[in-house]
Amino acid sequence: MKNKILAGKKIYNCKCRKHMTLQRSALSVAVSMLCSLPLQQSEASTLYLINYKGKPIFELQVLNAGENMQKLPDAFSDGEEDEFSTAQRNLKDEEISGLIMAGSLWAEILGPGTVNTSPVKVQVLGLDETHENASATSLPNLNVQNEPENVVGPIGQFTMNEPAQLPAYVFIGEGLDFIYPTTWHTLPDGDGFDYAATVFHEFGHALGIGFIEDYELNFNNFLYDCRGVQYSTGKELVALNSYNTDDSEENIFLVGDGAQSGVYFKGQHVNEVLAGSDLKGIPVNGVEDDGCGNQFFELSHFELDRSMMSHQNYRNYTFFMEAELAALQDLGYTIDRKNFYGRSIYANNQTIVNTQSFYARTADGNAYINGQPNTATLGTGLHVYGKNNKITQAADLLAGGTGGVGIRVDGSENKITIADAVQVRADGLNGTGVLFAYGSDQELNAQGTITALGEGGVALRFDFGGNLLGNETEYRGSYIWYGKTIKLMEFTKIFRC
Ligand SMILES: [Zn+2]
Repeated sequence: MKNKILAGKKIYNCKCRKHMTLQRSALSVAVSMLCSLPLQQSEASTLYLINYKGKPIFELQVLNAGENMQKLPDAFSDGEEDEFSTAQRNLKDEEISGLIMAGSLWAEILGPGTVNTSPVKVQVLGLDETHENASATSLPNLNVQNEPENVVGPIGQFTMNEPAQLPAYVFIGEGLDFIYPTTWHTLPDGDGFDYAATVFHEFGHALGIGFIEDYELNFNNFLYDCRGVQYSTGKELVALNSYNTDDSEENIFLVGDGAQSGVYFKGQHVNEVLAGSDLKGIPVNGVEDDGCGNQFFELSHFELDRSMMSHQNYRNYTFFMEAELAALQDLGYTIDRKNFYGRSIYANNQTIVNTQSFYARTADGNAYINGQPNTATLGTGLHVYGKNNKITQAADLLAGGTGGVGIRVDGSENKITIADAVQVRADGLNGTGVLFAYGSDQELNAQGTITALGEGGVALRFDFGGNLLGNETEYRGSYIWYGKTIKLMEFTKIFRC
């Protein structure tokens, strides 16, 4: 089994569902349309600049039909990109708005810690209805020896102010049933592919979440297989189902199927978030079928349960979990993770008194400001990913940003007690005080105060929401599970070490 992705031309085919809308993201993320740029052909593309408090973050170059993406240098080109190199259609206004909405949320996450003096360029191409996906990629700079450096362009530009030599590329197919939310919600509604969240996912790839075989990319080197062997260039990728487990060769890297690949992403920040859990790291997507019967080593999606950055058919997050934000820190980004999560519990079977509060952050991002509501978009005071925990919340959680959540519980069989006099408030737009977003046999003992006083707010919500990919793809509830993909999930072989 060979990775069919050729050097330098990996475009992450995400089968992502998308939808979204234009939203002025929180704080002072500013979006402005700059001007029209003449390109090689036909109508001019349009530039949109996304800033964070005056700092340039992204320059979106939305190509019009017939315009070509910036040509790849020979070192990266295998000719296959020609299929994607020309925009096949103009993007609709709601697609552009969604790009800005997702880019603005990334600006909110990255902006405080970036050191770049010019925006990261992102070229966006519309593809026709035969493309039932969205996808994105970015590539490393080439050094004087014409060899790829070990980070993709956006990492170098955002963290070291080394301008990317190539733009990031985002491709938007027209073949999916997208819906276009205009504001952020912590749960998808499932009426179609959530466009905003899909584009947010694609930006995740463009920012460096992606494996490219034979490159000295830093992402690759955070990967470990089910034996604990770290990936490095030169190791042969071997499918678990063709491997004799009696062997213990160190020059191979074992990869199982899909979310059960046994491969995980491990780094200092991820370890910090996952401490005490059964997870060795963030599970990473493994062998996939390309839809044409060809298997390949995908290794470019995070497979925490139901993650929006996964390749699972059911996803009910619209935002990165804390561990996923931590992975970006491991890739080199400076992120104030605690502006978005007060605390996350990935462990199972624990008895915990959580004295961690959640408030706005100080200007330097080093501490909470006692009593002042947090305003981060989709900020979450406490996230419970694990199962069968007994958790007493003993400090205030003020998640006042758009789509903010006081406590989000996934997992199952968790018992949550909000202690007397404790405030759990999510009073921003679309806020949710306490949300049970998955599982069954959960329990809430609410002795404190729970509010969601903003427009669209819900103080207590026991609801999985919908599927990011649309409920027609797959739909779940505590005692509901149906969808056209369910039969495909009857794995005939799952190999584990
Ligand atoms: Zn993807």
